[in-house]
Amino acid sequence: MRDKMKLKIGVHGLTSCYGCQLKMASIKELLEVVERFDIEYWYMASSKGEIKHVDVAFVEGSVSTAEDEKELKKIRENADILVAIGSCAIHGGVQGMLIGEEYKEIFEEIYGKYEMDFEGRIGEPIKNYVDVDYFLPGCPPEEEEVVYYLACFALGSYPEEKDYPVCSECRRNGYPCILIEKGEMCLGPLTVAGCNARCPSHNVACIGCRGPLPYNIAWFDSLAKTFKEKGFSKEDVRKRMEIFGKQYEKMDEMIEKVFEDEGGETDQE
Ligand code: SF4
Ligand code: SF4
Ligand code: SF4
Repeated sequence: MRDKMKLKIGVHGLTSCYGCQLKMASIKELLEVVERFDIEYWYMASSKGEIKHVDVAFVEGSVSTAEDEKELKKIRENADILVAIGSCAIHGGVQGMLIGEEYKEIFEEIYGKYEMDFEGRIGEPIKNYVDVDYFLPGCPPEEEEVVYYLACFALGSYPEEKDYPVCSECRRNGYPCILIEKGEMCLGPLTVAGCNARCPSHNVACIGCRGPLPYNIAWFDSLAKTFKEKGFSKEDVRKRMEIFGKQYEKMDEMIEKVFEDEGGETDQE
């Protein structure tokens, strides 16, 4: 008989690389998680067939086909809480970079003339189609974050989303600053923290895989302004940010703010 205290969860993948699900499947505490939740649906691990009501649904991937949209709406109808997990679900992912372009033309450019038996689209964030309660960033998210979100839900609490940049983790660890010392474009100042500055820890610049920070909450604008000092233009910053955050609706405001002068004037490109 079902333990009434156990939360029912579902894990779903739309168009994605399945990396976020894989991260969930490989957490060290998985056996404990499995014991504490009723997993109603997890296509990657073992599907129980039809989508049923769950307390919390985790959705990975972007909406890139008509099927994705249909499935997502069904998931939403059947979930009390819906969590967008990973950059694809939150911002459309790398496959969302070409938004505004004609899907069929791009498809043919890559695969040649081919009769598609599905209705493909440029990937979009799931919030364009359904209400999303929480966002769990990453590409994929970190193990501790997955466990933290699960623990919050299990306790009847809610997860707090990070509103500070990768730079704060980088500085705390004392890594040399790639932007200041090497003059390389590092998106740490504009990217949501949580990876413990993994790339700078290997002396590699951040390319923003966790997605842009929520605009205007708490961000490292003083370091971001270094882009200008180092000779980067708005377009340079935008191009780099668009790899993972092309569909971030506050992109322009954020970039304007980075290039804003002390007096409020913006740089001319
Ligand atoms: S966010 Fe990254 S890891 Fe997750 S599904 Fe998308 S590409 Fe894969
Ligand atoms: S700009 Fe990059 S290297 Fe410099 S502090 Fe921020 S994350 Fe670290
Ligand atoms: S440092 Fe940047 S690119 Fe690297 S894992 Fe963290 S957010 Fe992603």
